[in-house]
Parts: sequence; structure tokens; C-alpha cells
Amino acid sequence: MRLAVLSGKGGTGKTTVSASLALALDSCQYIDCDVEEPNGAIFLKPELQERYEVKVPVPEVDPAKCNGCGNCARACQFHALAVIKDKALLFAEICHHCGACQLSCPTGAIHEADRVIGVVEADARGSFLHGRLNIGEPVSIPIIRELKRRVQNGLPVILDCPPGASCSVVQAIGGCDYCILVTEPTPFGLHDLKIAVALVKKMKLPGGVIINKAMNNQQMIQEFCQENGIEVLLETPFSREIAENYSRGILPVQADPAWISRLQEVYSQVERSVKK
Ligand code: SF4
Ligand code: SF4
Repeated sequence: MRLAVLSGKGGTGKTTVSASLALALDSCQYIDCDVEEPNGAIFLKPELQERYEVKVPVPEVDPAKCNGCGNCARACQFHALAVIKDKALLFAEICHHCGACQLSCPTGAIHEADRVIGVVEADARGSFLHGRLNIGEPVSIPIIRELKRRVQNGLPVILDCPPGASCSVVQAIGGCDYCILVTEPTPFGLHDLKIAVALVKKMKLPGGVIINKAMNNQQMIQEFCQENGIEVLLETPFSREIAENYSRGILPVQADPAWISRLQEVYSQVERSVKK
């Protein structure tokens, strides 16, 4: 089963939940798709032994063949190309690697060259993987795609997704069997949860909610879930002890064995929902 853990916004406890689940299960594959800020390794402490560069094709212009027609700049929806004084200039940092400029060039002046945008790192068995996007790179999808190419069949797979509801999240949750949406009981949390729920529904994926940092104020989230037929899988309390442990890199499942059975029950509940 492929299980995506996501949240409408950062800082809700998405990594706490996904890394805790990984520790609570006997055997699983944990994939940190939050490639702009992967921090699952801080908690799971894997021995990273494999490293692969992730490359994307970017256009290069041969000035000798360029006639300055401007077709490439007009074809580029991302304004990554400009033609100034009959010369095509590329701003590689904002190129989205779509290849439209090459197709539009009448003189064959554009060819593609590989550019490294980040890495995928894994432990020896491939049971822990994460990606890292190089600073300044705008497009994380190729790294998430590379991570997902390494999904192992036959065991639970936990995908710690990027925050938000952008195209990188769409890439991460695509093909998953279930989405766990982690939220916090605040008006901001509810606002972003609604966006995440809309995304998951649009992609026709089943999902449930974990309410993190609950402080007897979770009613608004509970009501929203009830109105929308979404199961609440778990409520975790707002706790100074949990926060202090977290700041030392210690997850609730490592500090208190009761959390192991709670998270195992969450996984069983998800399994039952997926089977239904
Ligand atoms: S590959 Fe696509 S995004 Fe990049 S410069 Fe060409 S048209 Fe623009
Ligand atoms: S489309 Fe080709 S020939 Fe025209 S400006 Fe761009 S690179 Fe030059």
C-alpha cells in the first residue's frame, strides 16, 4: 500500500506523522518527497549509501545558427527565453524543461544539454530515500519522479509529501492508495486543509485526517470532516513534552511506546478503508 502524508501548509507535523508511522511499522519504505526541505533523516537516521544526481534537459542556443526570429521566446510560457538584438538569451534557472523552444526553432539552433538540479539519496536496501533540490532551482517534480521510480512493491510505502497543494504535491500523491492529511486546529489549518481535501478529492483518492496539536479546539476540524465524510484517524495533543522531544530529534513513538500502537491502529484503519 502506498500511503501519502500531506498537509495544506508547512509546520503541521507532517514529517512527525510520516516518520512515526515508519518507525511503528515492522517493515516499510519511507520516501521523503519534501525535496526542498527533507528532514525525515533527522529522525530516522538512515545510513545513506547511494547517491544519484537528478538531471534535466535545458536548451542551449547555437549563436551561429540563430537568426533572431524570436519564435523560441514566444513559445516559452515561462519567460525563460528572450531575444535581444537578434540574440536568444536563456535564463536557465526558470526553465521548466518542456522542450517547446526547441520545437519552435526553424533553424535547429537549439539543442538540449543536461543540467543537475539535485540528488536522490538512499540507504543500502532502498528502504529510506530522500531527494534534495539544489538551492535556487524552481522545479522539484523531476526529483520526486525519480524518488517514485524507486518505490518497492510488496511492502507499505510512506511518502512524506511537500507541504501545500502545488504541482509537486500532485506528483507526490499520484498513484497512492490513500492520503493522510495532517492539520492543526486553527482557522489557518482549516483553510489549508480545505484546499488539500479539494485536491485529494479531485484526484479521486481516499483520505483521512490527523489533527495535530489538539487543545480542545479541534471541533471546527471535526465538524468539517463530518460534513465532508472524511474520517478522523487520530488526534494528537498539543504537548510541551512532545515539542521538546521534537526539538531534540525524538519522535513521540521513540519517547512513549503507547504511540506505537496508536500509529499501528491508524495504519490498520487506513488498510480497512483502502480495502473497502
Ligand atoms: S524548455 Fe520550455 S521552459 Fe525551458 S526555455 Fe524552452 S520553452 Fe522555455
Ligand atoms: S527560434 Fe531559433 S532561430 Fe529563432 S531566435 Fe530562437 S534560437 Fe534563434
